[in-house]
Amino acid sequence: MPDRNIIIPIFIPHKGCPNDCYFCNQKKITGGDSDISSMDIINHIERYLKTVESYDNHIEIAFFGGSFTAIELSTQEKLLSIAYKYKCSKRINAIRISTRPDAISDAILDMLEDYGVDIVELGVQSMDDEVLSKINRGHTSEDVIRSSHLIKKRNMILGHQIMPGLYGSSTEKDIRTAVESVALLPDIARIYPTLIIKDTQFERLYEQNRYQPLKLDESVELVSQIYAIYDKERIKVIRVGLQPTSNMALGKDIIAGPFHPAYRQMIMTNIYVTSLIHGLKGKETNRLTIRSSEKNYNYIVGLNKKGLERLNKSLNIECLSYIKDNDTECIEVCTNHDKMCFSERDLMETFDLISKERGYVSKRDYY
Ligand code: SF4
Repeated sequence: MPDRNIIIPIFIPHKGCPNDCYFCNQKKITGGDSDISSMDIINHIERYLKTVESYDNHIEIAFFGGSFTAIELSTQEKLLSIAYKYKCSKRINAIRISTRPDAISDAILDMLEDYGVDIVELGVQSMDDEVLSKINRGHTSEDVIRSSHLIKKRNMILGHQIMPGLYGSSTEKDIRTAVESVALLPDIARIYPTLIIKDTQFERLYEQNRYQPLKLDESVELVSQIYAIYDKERIKVIRVGLQPTSNMALGKDIIAGPFHPAYRQMIMTNIYVTSLIHGLKGKETNRLTIRSSEKNYNYIVGLNKKGLERLNKSLNIECLSYIKDNDTECIEVCTNHDKMCFSERDLMETFDLISKERGYVSKRDYY
């Protein structure tokens, strides 16, 4: 097992993109819109490698932003040849790109394979054609199906990125997007609840009161359900919510929407606590002892102890003890008379079952 998974991100600006998706301002997201020279990229990679190379890490060069395979072929090849040299000299282990579903073909995949690309992430966003059209995405769900199948036929890792809460979508459409994405068997997924970014078409729709993004609490409930849909099928959710940066913050480049720097923790707390309450229903829980890793216990405690408060209240706990055990992956819970063990998988499956029984969260259209 490598010590750490290290990503060397290289942000490719909007250049060459034929579309103007309503949610996107690549210049804002990638932090620049100028050309990047080969020397800049090499210097950037070298700077990263200096800090990590002496350890046993799994290191990836990842081309983010823009639509990699939609940019000029000569630029793609220039960028990939740099990454490929690092891979051939074994200074990195893998190369990752992200792109649009309609910018994938067998010929493109041949080229990516020639340059040793290992991971292709598709910006799926939604599997609902009406939503894709409303956000001016410029492709359909059929492109997602076709490109996913083409990538799966290769020796490559397939990633799906989806955006719950888009203009014209609804809870039902977002859940269906996750279910249809899962059916295409991606290996990894990213869930980005839609935000209103400065200088986008969404900002104008929002200002005209024609579109309201999800509220933070309703997005946490919906995204938890989507997370569990992927996770129970063993699809690793590698990112939930946009990464905070100095500019990516509410009041800066984010105008509105469900953004929180600890978004993933909010999701995990919701899933863990809901499922634990369900699993302990009917037991005598006034005295409770939890043995788990610190990470899992932090998920239960939650931000500002919100998870713990919910657990205490729902289970009428009078006395709660915690035993730290970083060697266990399970959450062991001792009540007055019982001892129960919950794995992360148990909690995910329970959460998904509860969500299904409730018919998923209350329906809402995001106009
Ligand atoms: S295709 Fe990608 S880069 Fe182009 S506008 Fe849409 S999100 Fe932005």
